Amino acid sequence: MTPGEPSGAADPDERRAELAESLARVRGRIAAACAAAGRDPAELTLIAVTKTFPASDVRLLAGLGLTEVGENRDQEARPKAADCADLPLTWHFVGRLQTNKARAVAGYAGVVHSVDRSRLVAALSDAAARAGRTLRCLVQVSLDEAEHRGGAAPDEVPGLADEIAAAEALELGGVMAVAPLGADPLPAFERLAAVAGEMRRNHPHARVVSAGMSGDLEQAIACGATHLRIGTALLGGRRAIVR
Ligand SMILES: *Cc1c(COP(=O)(O)O)cnc(C)c1O
Repeated sequence: MTPGEPSGAADPDERRAELAESLARVRGRIAAACAAAGRDPAELTLIAVTKTFPASDVRLLAGLGLTEVGENRDQEARPKAADCADLPLTWHFVGRLQTNKARAVAGYAGVVHSVDRSRLVAALSDAAARAGRTLRCLVQVSLDEAEHRGGAAPDEVPGLADEIAAAEALELGGVMAVAPLGADPLPAFERLAAVAGEMRRNHPHARVVSAGMSGDLEQAIACGATHLRIGTALLGGRRAIVR
């Protein structure tokens, strides 16, 4: 375990103290990165990515003032969102999404970060309309041609943005990306900033740039990120999921 990483204490009071401490540490990193970049920390939205951690942790984070929660698998997110339905939370779906899960996800998510193809736009729009909800969608941009962890190629982004903006029950929020594994995140986030700037020329309200995880939030902030998706630095190391 990395020093200073939350250990995942089982006792609720201990766990609360641990999460409060890691939250303060993350907020400190955000403040320092904003100072270095000449940005206002109020421009940044912190999303706690709670995958593999229990609903009780979501509840503790909500008690510490967090309102944005991220998950990457519907099977896990759906029961957790139901468990926390009494809390004032917005659920962000950040993982790869199959079209046959669109209906379920549209039932609890406020934002889907991983829209990367037309068929998914259609499925989400249909699902959100049936649920009587408006779903905010980000276009996930692939920053690495070689590797495929989801995301649309940069030249596919304008078309997808137009489709989302035109869809009945969807609202275009902006862009999302994951930095390529094992490479310097800075040039990748600079490419994302260029794609985001291009999108805003046609869709001036699509201002969200979802970039930055536990290991690269400083570089993301330097490149104009507005939303950070933080798991490990807040909640601790994830154990392997047994399926
Ligand atoms: C798990 C996950 C995160 C959080 O990653 P950490 O490195 O633990 O902060 C962010 N974004 C996506 C898409 C994820 O799947």
